[in-house]
Amino acid sequence: MKVVDHLKNNDKTLFSFEILPPLKGKDINLIYEVIDPLMEFEPKYLNITYHREEVVYKRHKSGLLERKTVHKRPGTVAIAAAVKYKYQKVNVVPHIICGGFSREETENALIDLHFLGIRNLLVLRGDPLQADKVFIPEENGHANAIDLINQIQCLNKGYYLDEELQNTTKMDFSLGVAGYPEKHIESPNIDTDLFYLKKKIEAGADYIVTQLFFDNKKYFDFVDRCRKVGINVPIVPGIKPISIKNHLNILPSTFNIDIPEELAKEVRKCKTNDDARQVGVEWAIMQSKELIERKAPAVHYYTMGKADNIYNIAKAVF
Ligand code: FAD
Repeated sequence: MKVVDHLKNNDKTLFSFEILPPLKGKDINLIYEVIDPLMEFEPKYLNITYHREEVVYKRHKSGLLERKTVHKRPGTVAIAAAVKYKYQKVNVVPHIICGGFSREETENALIDLHFLGIRNLLVLRGDPLQADKVFIPEENGHANAIDLINQIQCLNKGYYLDEELQNTTKMDFSLGVAGYPEKHIESPNIDTDLFYLKKKIEAGADYIVTQLFFDNKKYFDFVDRCRKVGINVPIVPGIKPISIKNHLNILPSTFNIDIPEELAKEVRKCKTNDDARQVGVEWAIMQSKELIERKAPAVHYYTMGKADNIYNIAKAVF
């Protein structure tokens, strides 16, 4: 079933979450350990993030630096298959990104996912490589999420890159995209960001999942602004509980978000990361309760590969 149909056809707010592929060399059971306890809250779908290659520099004895690219986490196709067939009631939503992929590589990944019976994708551009500062598309790749949406929509009509192909199978993907209540970091202002967000919806995206935020007012304002410019698809709030003291400094610069002083004050008082994790859980419970009360279509949790805090939040609100 399509995620968008779940979002539109449910009276109550749904519980959803995303998992990270384990680091290279680790076992698929790490993923099951995150999913298993969260099944109690009957997720209709779950997302699998994609992590592009990273650039690392290795210093040789001669003093020369060697530039290498490494994939620290494997791709999502095999994980999506494993999860789909283990948790058959749950729709799997792999993230698919522009960064690091040519159009051909993207098409091949989409063919694999479609063969596996996967029909939902979250379509993203991906961040710039750390070494690059600005996003550089792959040769013959895509510069923005909308270009990737357009490629998928062509496949949904049966148009593959090889124009000679005949009687092709039409793909049947439903697409979600990212939205930013506090604007995307590269965007000059929120109106420009919304202009491009609307383009993604017009290109065929069915729903939006937001960047994390700690102040629900930012989400409600964002939904209002979207509606005013004619973006009428479901908008799913994304929640990430603070889980270490250092998040106070890391999260704002990484995600271009504010942390309200009331929350920052509580985290500053914490002596240990365990204390901060508890503060994060309590804040996320408060956020979730209000989002559910005000009928958000789902609340989507960023697990960062650990289930315990998300379990405690979900137990209190779902
Ligand atoms: P775009 O929609 O392409 O937007 C990027 C910027 O370009 C914005 O400033 C936008 O305003 C502007 N823009 C958009 N279209 C155009 C256009 N046609 N012309 C000019 N400017 C344009 N990253 C990962 O690598 N893996 C993941 O699994 C992942 N999951 C995510 C899940 C969610 C819910 C969210 C919110 C983000 C996720 N990200 C992930 C991060 C995401 O890849 C980054 O935020 C990235 O910098 C932007 O992605 P986007 O899809 O929003 O890009």
